Amino acid sequence: MGDSHDHDLTGLIHHPYRPPEGFDAPQPGVFKASTVYFPHVAALRARDWREKAGYTYGLHGTPTTYLLEERIAHLEGGKQTVLVPSGLSAISTTSLALFQSGDEVLIPDNAYGPNKAFAQGELARMGVSHAVYDPVDVNDLAQRIGARTRLVWLEAPGSVTMEFPDLLAQVRLCRERGVTMALDNTWGAGLAFRPFDLLGDGSLGVDISVHALTKYPSGGGDVLMGAITTCEKALHEKIKLCHMRLGLGVGANDVEAILRALPSIGVRYVAQDQSARAVAHWLAQQAFCAQVLHPAISGAPGHAHWATVCANGGHAARGLAAGLFSIIIRADRTQEQVDAFLNDLRCFKLGYSWGGPVSLAVPYTLKDMRGRPTPHLQSGHLVRLSMGLESPLALIADLAASAQTHLG
Ligand SMILES: *Cc1c(COP(=O)(O)O)cnc(C)c1O
Repeated sequence: MGDSHDHDLTGLIHHPYRPPEGFDAPQPGVFKASTVYFPHVAALRARDWREKAGYTYGLHGTPTTYLLEERIAHLEGGKQTVLVPSGLSAISTTSLALFQSGDEVLIPDNAYGPNKAFAQGELARMGVSHAVYDPVDVNDLAQRIGARTRLVWLEAPGSVTMEFPDLLAQVRLCRERGVTMALDNTWGAGLAFRPFDLLGDGSLGVDISVHALTKYPSGGGDVLMGAITTCEKALHEKIKLCHMRLGLGVGANDVEAILRALPSIGVRYVAQDQSARAVAHWLAQQAFCAQVLHPAISGAPGHAHWATVCANGGHAARGLAAGLFSIIIRADRTQEQVDAFLNDLRCFKLGYSWGGPVSLAVPYTLKDMRGRPTPHLQSGHLVRLSMGLESPLALIADLAASAQTHLG
């Protein structure tokens, strides 16, 4: 190879052309990097990766990740956000950032399942114990908070069985006892209530809000990501340091997908809420249905607490709920009948997660999930339904057709 060829190849890498500045369009540009350049050695030496005034290395942030962090902080009503590769990673990173050996964490019995599994596995190995509290009894939580309690997890409503807890009482209790609170805010998504300002007057809120961006912010069923949002700088820095040491990064293409979906989160949330309520009301009238577990439907466990926080909790409370709920199919139907009912659904696919365009159904076994009695739940077959963006009439017709064949 001659000099001129070498020169051509090098020119591909060090070509001097720069596009004109000032490009502006609805979607922000996507920046991808492991390496980030410094203009000179002094700048490299002076750079502090913790400061968002500049860039150090892809893992510590790019314009693309900074942008999504700021927008999620805005959505949650918080001040700082850290992005992690999944919602579960938001839970585990929060725990790893806060605990030391000898600490105890309190987890609601209806928590997102892997939160308990993480406590039983990694936290137990670290010498951090956990206790499970009754989410529908604030006194049980009050009795369990002790000298070693380092964190209380909150979830409103809880996963799968959807009981909305007395969130205001739980938060007041933790405040009084001086215990840090982390809320899994995936269901509320920053839209149903304000986690850092539950009353709308700035007087009451949680310390940490974790959010599976996989669900509503992504809205596509095609991206995994999580966020940890705080209001207090010292707490944020603790989490950010741990996040850096764990080496958690998120891909720019995934961030881009969420940035693209975020502007429509409000209309998607409302549409799926309306759909879920229409379907839930229809199900409540069916003979095969023993119980509808939807916090915004009167008679469901925690309905009054949902109303207090989401309908009456200050200016941001608009009476919203996510498009996700569960039903209990009467115990006199067999497991085979229930399985056949689920198998024959057409709009509802069988699959985990929610917040995407396609409706989903998942059967659960309550006794495998709970450590404490659940007298507020009917016996029977537990099924979770998540609404996609299909018409609610099509979803009801789908459920009706399969139920007529299999559930009588
Ligand atoms: C899905 C979910 C998570 C975990 O999110 P992933 O991105 O799937 O890891 C955590 N909490 C709740 C309430 C969820 O629904």
